[in-house]
Amino acid sequence: MSVVDIEIGLKQQRGVMDIQDIVASAAVFLEDASAREIIRWAAATFGDRLCITASMSDALLIDLVSRVKPGVDTLFIDTGYHFVETIGTRDAVRQVYDVNVIDVMPSRTVAEQERDLGPRLFGRNPDLCCYLRKVEPLNRALEPYLAWISGIRRDEAATRAGIKVVEWDEKRQMVKVNPIARWTQEDVDNYIADNGVLINPLHYDNYPSIGCAPCTRQVAPGEDPRSGRWAGLGKTECGLHI
Ligand code: SF4
Repeated sequence: MSVVDIEIGLKQQRGVMDIQDIVASAAVFLEDASAREIIRWAAATFGDRLCITASMSDALLIDLVSRVKPGVDTLFIDTGYHFVETIGTRDAVRQVYDVNVIDVMPSRTVAEQERDLGPRLFGRNPDLCCYLRKVEPLNRALEPYLAWISGIRRDEAATRAGIKVVEWDEKRQMVKVNPIARWTQEDVDNYIADNGVLINPLHYDNYPSIGCAPCTRQVAPGEDPRSGRWAGLGKTECGLHI
């Protein structure tokens, strides 16, 4: 079934189905579709009320989406704790890709958070730190949109194994599109190599999963790629996705 067929089918259904039913149908229709087809469906369905989120670990999702929807709003959560390499990757993305990078800022600066809540909140209460510096700012930034595209994949972590290519984001009451949900790390590596995708240079220094500097460490060969995130804190997700 082509994307056009899918779009026609969804339009026919819109009159009698609410958005959650459309999402459930799209998840089935698009389960075996390519990432580009899934993105084309999202762009055709949500137009300018669609955005993507980018951690600036690499520009794979940015490359994929900008080929279908040039100028797409691209939300980058500037937590104030990023590696300089991540900030540099964001700046390079602005120069290289046809996307509209929007810096999403927490309500408090790092200095204000330390003044109000004490130093090193990330070490004492990382869930609260992630909420204040990632989750709340993203929730606020997503409000104008009907749908967002994320780059999460099923093989990244057990917590992500059940994600659908299109799903209802219950917390935010909007649609979430995961066009590379089915991709493996090999698929990612091949796409980056074949398309010359810009990547965060920390990948060359044994950081396969990149978050805020205080909560990300290098990973030894053979270790779980996400084991460098919040190491020793019993935390595996920041709360943006799961
Ligand atoms: S990853 Fe660490 S520093 Fe970044 S928001 Fe979460 S707890 Fe804070």
